Amino acid sequence: MTNILDNIKQVSTSLQQSAQQFHRSVDAIMLLAVSKGQSSQALRLAWQANIRNFGENYLQEALEKIAALDDLDPCWHFIGPIQSNKTQDIAQHFSWVHSIERLKIARRLSQQRPAHLPPLNVCIQVNIDRETSKSGIDPEHCLELALAIDELPRLKLRGLMVIPQQRDQLDEQRRPYRRAAELLDSLKKSSAALSSLDTLSMGMSGDMQAAIAEGATIIRVGTAIFGPRTQTKL
Ligand SMILES: *Cc1c(COP(=O)(O)O)cnc(C)c1O
Repeated sequence: MTNILDNIKQVSTSLQQSAQQFHRSVDAIMLLAVSKGQSSQALRLAWQANIRNFGENYLQEALEKIAALDDLDPCWHFIGPIQSNKTQDIAQHFSWVHSIERLKIARRLSQQRPAHLPPLNVCIQVNIDRETSKSGIDPEHCLELALAIDELPRLKLRGLMVIPQQRDQLDEQRRPYRRAAELLDSLKKSSAALSSLDTLSMGMSGDMQAAIAEGATIIRVGTAIFGPRTQTKL
């Protein structure tokens, strides 16, 4: 756990190097620390190293950590699959949801977002590699869902989230991320209502360089920050 501070330094350094290499502004890339399976103590260490955004996949586990870190003020992102019976808690406790793939879930989140909180930032998860077993909406259905979400009063549609197949080479890793960037571009051009979309949530520990090269604005990094996960199987 003491390595967390060193790990964050290393991840920040490689983020900076990739940004420089691909002519991106570092300030335009959020480092989201994916903390599933990590203890609240580990999150406190990350907080001390100036991490302000945490990503969680499992609601119950997340709620425990949100309560345990009550004295801090991090920004919580929900990045896992969402069942209908979880939307109320998610709408109350998170600032971002990256994993919207159905209008029904988006509607519930909008209805259940408390009035005293700002609109919930959301991304549509796209199955960019068209894998049959994977979460996310197919690219060709994305525009329809985006336009419908844009109508929901308590959500703020920000952009797209993708989890491509694992690939080893930088060139291969960049391809699905390029398609995601092109899809976001086409959404922005196809309707004035979508022209302000600004978010590409893409890139993990093993391929953040490729994602940054293709325009990622949020990289979701777990193991490179916290090491192997202990509490859950993922
Ligand atoms: C676990 C997870 C990550 C982080 O993966 P690492 O390989 O540990 O960096 C990113 N995004 C999502 C959606 C995840 O579930």
